[in-house]
Amino acid sequence: PGLEDLRRAVGKLLKRSGPYEALVKEYVRDVQRALIPADVNVRLVFELTRRIRERALQERPPPGVSRREWLVKITYEELVKLFGGDGEPEVKPRYTPYVIMMVGVQGSGKTTTVGKLAKFYRSMGYRVGVVAADTYRPGAYEQLRQLADRVGAMFYGEPGSKDAVGIARRGVEELRKRGAEIIIVDTAGRHGYGEEEALLEEMKNIAEAINPDEVMLVIDAAMGQKSYDLAKRFHEATPIGSIIVTKMDGTAKGGGALSAVAATGARIKFIGTGEDVDELEVFRPKRFVARILGMGDLESLLEKIERLQSVGEFEKTMEEMMAGKITFRTIYKQLHQMKKLGPFRKVLQMLPGFSAMLDSFDEAARVSEEKMKKWISIMDSMTFEELDNPELLEQRSRVRRLAIGAGVETSDVRELYNYYKTVKRMMKQLRKRKDILEKLSRLGKLPG
Ligand code: GDP
Repeated sequence: PGLEDLRRAVGKLLKRSGPYEALVKEYVRDVQRALIPADVNVRLVFELTRRIRERALQERPPPGVSRREWLVKITYEELVKLFGGDGEPEVKPRYTPYVIMMVGVQGSGKTTTVGKLAKFYRSMGYRVGVVAADTYRPGAYEQLRQLADRVGAMFYGEPGSKDAVGIARRGVEELRKRGAEIIIVDTAGRHGYGEEEALLEEMKNIAEAINPDEVMLVIDAAMGQKSYDLAKRFHEATPIGSIIVTKMDGTAKGGGALSAVAATGARIKFIGTGEDVDELEVFRPKRFVARILGMGDLESLLEKIERLQSVGEFEKTMEEMMAGKITFRTIYKQLHQMKKLGPFRKVLQMLPGFSAMLDSFDEAARVSEEKMKKWISIMDSMTFEELDNPELLEQRSRVRRLAIGAGVETSDVRELYNYYKTVKRMMKQLRKRKDILEKLSRLGKLPG
């Protein structure tokens, strides 16, 4: 039981039929049953499911998307929020040499993670050095020396010495001289759970000596929602901090740890997924959620929804254009949507009502990306009056002014004006054609 049950909940939802409200109710309960055993904080779980329920009952999916499919999309979005939001962590150092200091409770996987990070940055092409300043755990020096060897990182350590601060300082200095671009310092985290204060105090002492560019806190996923307190204090103590959650492979509480850390606002950069040096992943909430919900199906569903949403918007604009007055405001909106949708022809094929007019449209639709950009910047330079009354562009002084304002040629402005006239003409034709079609279909329905 745990996060994997989310996939099952979604699968069940998509298969079931019955009154929607009852489905939502049952589904929300399934989601809770998956998240609570994963040690996600109960308050967070109820907030999440309350939002899912609310949105499920309020929002209307675009045409072509069922309410249940839409509910899956809502779930995806809300889970992404729970696990840290839309953003992707920045793992490439902004400059070099770049000093990373690792802290963490003993046994959390700190030294192993130093090796993993060294490998990660080596494979990005950096010259990496590691410093063994964990003087407390007897095996740490030898463990790190071997890891460094394996991943091709430079190594600094002073076997037998207990002077962690001194080792850290000398190590950074020495590795910098030897040309390391990324230096990772393993420190002694000798404190048990619940002793955050002492751990963070020690972090400050060493940080003062080596002035790191980033401090990374290693948290064992098995801590589950208990990670919240530690992550919160850490997040408050250092503005240059990020978090690595290790042992995601070994516990059902991983979801709890991730959501607890995310709730503090701290950044999770990596997750550890095994004992091997390769088993480190950049943490991307969207990808993580997609994976627990079943990547393949979800991706195609999200794509379908996005496409239908865009087509729906475009169709609305087309209908508005047919029904109402065409101005540069409508052209502006249309161009933006076209940019989003890609080639015009394909778009029109998706709209049954318009496909008949394809050929006449196609001509005017040959609008290149470059042209669109120019036209959009011309319209950005227009006054409200011009946006609402395109015919004002019959005046040459306006054409000149707009060309200068947008940094384009007067011929570009004239071209845009011609496009407007073409669209207007076509819309008129479409309107006529639609009237005829409607009349015909009405006639068709007459008996006999
Ligand atoms: P430290 O005391 O924090 O430096 O901890 P170590 O790096 O020595 O790791 C403690 C134990 O956790 C070792 O047995 C590691 O192999 C193991 N470990 C570290 N990271 C992971 C991980 O992501 N997954 C699993 N399954 N084990 C891990």
